[in-house]
Amino acid sequence: PHAKFCLPARSGSSAELKPANPILLVHGGAGRRPMTVAQASGLRDALRVGYHLLDRGGSALTAVEQAIRVLEQSGLFNAGAGSRLQLDGVRRMDASIMEGDSLRAGAVASVEGIAHPIVAARLVMETTDHVMLVGPLATKFARYFKLERHPLRTIRRRLSYDVMLTRKSLAGERHGTVGAVARDRSGTVAAGASTGGIDRMLPGRVGDTPLIGCGVYADNQSGAVAMTGIGEGIIRMAVAKEICDRLAQGAFPAAAARQVLKNLVTRIQGAAGTLVLASDGRFSILHVTPRMSAGWWDGKGEPTVGDRFQ
Ligand code: ASP
Repeated sequence: PHAKFCLPARSGSSAELKPANPILLVHGGAGRRPMTVAQASGLRDALRVGYHLLDRGGSALTAVEQAIRVLEQSGLFNAGAGSRLQLDGVRRMDASIMEGDSLRAGAVASVEGIAHPIVAARLVMETTDHVMLVGPLATKFARYFKLERHPLRTIRRRLSYDVMLTRKSLAGERHGTVGAVARDRSGTVAAGASTGGIDRMLPGRVGDTPLIGCGVYADNQSGAVAMTGIGEGIIRMAVAKEICDRLAQGAFPAAAARQVLKNLVTRIQGAAGTLVLASDGRFSILHVTPRMSAGWWDGKGEPTVGDRFQ
């Protein structure tokens, strides 16, 4: 109902790679607005940082984390330093990360005042027995590990629920959630994402980004997926896991993405874009929004970055 949707016709970028050739894909959100020159160069920076780690034998998990860290730091996207405010004027962020060999995952939701929610998500994965921490206690956890702070820059607004409930979120209007998927030399895949959410959200709203199986999924037996778009629809159709399940059944990334995004549009009028990387190295970038800022690099030539992949 919100944006002008189009059905995906064919895959954007696809390629076949020999086993265990490293590759990294990143995105800066799906929506209506064209990617800016600065955002394109931010995505290239993230691809360079992440790919060089892979090239030196680093893990897919670290490449995904570090690429997302660059995008959070840039302030050019709706994540980390650039995160939007919720309707009460507070910036609350979500992030998650998953590794496809062990199926370990970590996530934080509604964290405030930290520069890199993706780092907090990885810490949840690696230092606890849990998958997700939320709210002020997730922020406290990040403080315990002395994660870099981000100035709050909040403008507390005293809006009543009567007023806030009239401000419906504008789907597809602005975008800028960030995400990444990677495969390392060992053939392990990983996926991650970080966001400030969507426009005009109620305080406390959490989207798909920190929910494993919805915004992010990674399994060496299928592949890695990072979603962006209106989180409510992505949650209702558990999109990331759905795409991975289709990969596991033998679908090519472009076909799996196309079918699942088509269902998202036709069944619940969802709007989304996806990075899909099969464990054999084939990949697809696909969106049913007018644009999606994204790119990929396998170390050959220069990183490819664009905002239309259909
Ligand atoms: N999926 C994110 C959310 O709903 C927003 C986005 O991808 O732009 O919070």
